[in-house]
Amino acid sequence: MVYSLLFGSFLVGSLTSIFWARQRAGRLTLQFQRQLKAERQNSTVYEQRLQAFLLALQASPNGVVILDSDRRIEWCNQTAARLLGLDAVRDVAQHIAHLVREPQFLEYLSQENFEHELRFDNKALQLHPYGLGRALLLVRDVTDVERAEQMRRDFVANVSHEIRTPLTVLSGFIETLQTLDLSVEEQKRYLQLMGTQSQRLGALVADLLTLSKLDAEAKPSLERVNVERLLLQCEREARILATVLKRDITIEFNVESGTDMLGSASELQSAFSNLITNAVRYTPSGGAVQVKWRQNELTVKDTGFGIAPEHLPRLTERFYRVDKSRIRELGETAGTGLGLAIVKHVAQRHGAQLEIESTIGVGSTFKLIF
Ligand code: ADP
Repeated sequence: MVYSLLFGSFLVGSLTSIFWARQRAGRLTLQFQRQLKAERQNSTVYEQRLQAFLLALQASPNGVVILDSDRRIEWCNQTAARLLGLDAVRDVAQHIAHLVREPQFLEYLSQENFEHELRFDNKALQLHPYGLGRALLLVRDVTDVERAEQMRRDFVANVSHEIRTPLTVLSGFIETLQTLDLSVEEQKRYLQLMGTQSQRLGALVADLLTLSKLDAEAKPSLERVNVERLLLQCEREARILATVLKRDITIEFNVESGTDMLGSASELQSAFSNLITNAVRYTPSGGAVQVKWRQNELTVKDTGFGIAPEHLPRLTERFYRVDKSRIRELGETAGTGLGLAIVKHVAQRHGAQLEIESTIGVGSTFKLIF
């Protein structure tokens, strides 16, 4: 009896504690599940944030490579992959030095100081260390920058050359006049030649100033331009040039009257005059120059030497000349080599198009379509 009572109370006690244990376990499981859910939600948020962050890096115009402390790739965007020849998926965990093998890069990687960027193969790279030994490698495509720098270097070299030639001639003549006992006739001849050279220098400086003004000002200052009056001035210039060059050329101007246009008078004057004086300059005696202005379109047609097709795409480059020997022939009336560069610039600033058609020995037609 006692035994069964004892057993009974033991059984009840055990069952009660099992019940409470289960209850507690149930509560714990619920708590655990909630915690797990919260953590899952958190990790989804983190995952989303990470994805958004990587998408932002992917959108960067620069190449981005994240390197661990051993300089192994942890992640890179598509731009970096393209510029450095990497595979954004396959190359993860690879050492960057095993994939980018250029000696300059390996040397750069091995140094301590990353203050300066490294340039090679039209790329600019810079390592930015962060955290504990990790690094961000940024890469830029500098093809355009390199091209612009090369153009600037060529331009400076060309300007120096263009200035040096007349200066050498001038200083030679000055020395001759100072040291030799020349006749009045000879002195006159030398002074005339010196005048030609100084005029060439003057024209060069004037064109350089025009170009630098065009480069510096974002937009032309717009005004009502009386095209008729402007072309009358060009016609006078063309006739004087033909007389100076002793060219017997028919010069014809056909200008629609009363057609003003909105633009910069000085820029348009410079562009029109360059096209028209070129037509006179490159047309021999017996030829003709026709200038027509109609419906916002200027046509300058000549029956001159013409230009071979391979030169046409480069004509508007600064100092590009088809035939350099003509400079001597044209004397003080020789162009500066900047005329068509100015025309192109002015055209762009006025939303106009420059069209060139030419046939060797037949002539050329230059059109400005506004
Ligand atoms: P330049 O001052 O030498 O005339 P431009 O920039 O005005 O320089 O012209 C570039 C080159 O284009 C000239 O050197 C010349 O060889 C060629 N050119 C320009 N206009 C004509 C034309 N109407 N006929 C033939 N060649 C031309």
